Amino acid sequence: MKRILKNMLSTSLPLRISKGNRFVFVLHEVSDQIPNPYAPDYSTSIALFRKQIDLLSELFDIISLDRLVSDSELDPTKNYAALTFDDGYMGVFENARPILKSQNIPYAVFFNKSAVESNQLWVSNAELSVDNVEYIAGLLKAAKCSLKDDQDAIRHIVANGSFDDQFLTASKLPPQQNKIYMGVEEIQQLVSDQVLIGNHSSDHLVLSRCSDPGLLHSQIKESQVFLNGITKKEISHFAIPFGHKTDYNEATIAEALASGHKYIYTTNPNRLKLKKLTKKPFLIPRIGIDNRSLKEILFYINRTLIKNYDL
Ligand SMILES: [Zn+2]
Repeated sequence: MKRILKNMLSTSLPLRISKGNRFVFVLHEVSDQIPNPYAPDYSTSIALFRKQIDLLSELFDIISLDRLVSDSELDPTKNYAALTFDDGYMGVFENARPILKSQNIPYAVFFNKSAVESNQLWVSNAELSVDNVEYIAGLLKAAKCSLKDDQDAIRHIVANGSFDDQFLTASKLPPQQNKIYMGVEEIQQLVSDQVLIGNHSSDHLVLSRCSDPGLLHSQIKESQVFLNGITKKEISHFAIPFGHKTDYNEATIAEALASGHKYIYTTNPNRLKLKKLTKKPFLIPRIGIDNRSLKEILFYINRTLIKNYDL
């Protein structure tokens, strides 16, 4: 029985029956560099990305994120989706942008100030240095974490670490030769393509575990001011780094709202219900796509029609 249900949830049938749903999807890097050295768990090949976009275009009216989260007048006999990319990877500019542009598909990109300014973030630095014992030991120490033998250092830091300026110092690497993240020029190009630019904090720390409130404030506010300076647009969309419920708390939400963000995104993998639009502020769920197969994506979409997740 379980298998029959799972098979049914991996087809497009449920969405042909259930209408009036909205979904926000999140991807990260789109690149044929596989395995990817700086984002191994968050990279999608270009060929798979094309197929994913074809699937989503078939299932949904893909509209701008702005409209998806604010327009209460959307047609209840259709299903809608919006696409988002987190972290501002260069492959999104080089590989995803031409595909989306040629099909007139709107999307949003959430940027980290430090990635734009210095082409590095602690997460990608840690992946690039995963075999550098000294670097990883320094990072664990700065995050006040101790590791058991079989634990993955990066996951352990995300799940348990404590984040402060000392951690940021320990995470820095010398400038990278390769361009991993988009810079100011690429963001300005996206703006001229009408791409929505959102804030993803300065350094991609776990905001629920920033040890000092001053750091939490600067992580959210400085990145927002920086992106406003580049885009000359109001930055009102904020995607919480990592985005699961252990990665933020009331202080995180309060800080994001106090900075003037109107829409806050998690990675709790649910659909967006229409009635929620009237209850402000609320946290907007997103479903991660990355390198998932079409069947897996269908399953992740359809299961939200029968269950509400709290991750
Ligand atoms: Zn991110």
